[in-house]
Amino acid sequence: MKLTVVGCSGSYPGPDSSASCYLLEHEHEGRTWRLVLDLGNGSLGQLQRYCDPRDIDGIAISHLHPDHCIDLTSFLVLAKYHPDGPYALVPVFAPAGASEYISAAGGPGGEPPVDALQVVPWEQEPVAEVGPFRVVAYRVDHPVVAFGLRVEAGGHVVAYSGDTGPTPALTELAQDADLFLCEASFVESSDNPPNLHLTGADAGRCSVEARVKHLLVTHIPAWTDAVEVEADVKSAWSGRYDVVRPGDVFEL
Ligand SMILES: [Zn+2]
Ligand SMILES: [Zn+2]
Repeated sequence: MKLTVVGCSGSYPGPDSSASCYLLEHEHEGRTWRLVLDLGNGSLGQLQRYCDPRDIDGIAISHLHPDHCIDLTSFLVLAKYHPDGPYALVPVFAPAGASEYISAAGGPGGEPPVDALQVVPWEQEPVAEVGPFRVVAYRVDHPVVAFGLRVEAGGHVVAYSGDTGPTPALTELAQDADLFLCEASFVESSDNPPNLHLTGADAGRCSVEARVKHLLVTHIPAWTDAVEVEADVKSAWSGRYDVVRPGDVFEL
């Protein structure tokens, strides 16, 4: 599996990165399969640096905050109106309500995306199969319905926290992961609200419990000091880690 960090700015796009988006690629039966995790503000533009969006086989959305899903509305335009012809129907796995959310973004009278996107609620199908990828969604702890994702392909595991406060589900979904993309939006020195986000130390503690092989710290908002987040990570985790940036590639 190959992971490309398309966008990793937490909560809103920053000056150096779009909001959350990660591209997973895997060679299988003679071609490259592509799965996108989240499609936050501005990420569809950046995604075109790494692949033709027509070649995306599936999209998995962690939750319906705009920094994780709003560019589905732009993807829909591309998929329906590209001058070379419409895209094949793309499966989109997302929390219930995603279809209505995309329609509402089209304004009053906005049409449902049914002719371009096959939206499947995680609540209905918590396990998704896209070619060689198997994705399992775990309910995590965030003010809206949110899922962390465990992706398996080719005998490797990439785990993704989405947005969450500390929860046992996170340890479960990250168990023995080769790569653990874990959010760290908060710093330990602040008085943080509960049930919302993690600090770098939370991400580190969870990585210890889950015995992950490589922690990828992500979703640091532009208003947060990334140096402090990294210091928090190191206070709880002595294993391999990176604070990710757009364009970073990790191959398994
Ligand atoms: Zn977020
Ligand atoms: Zn969120």
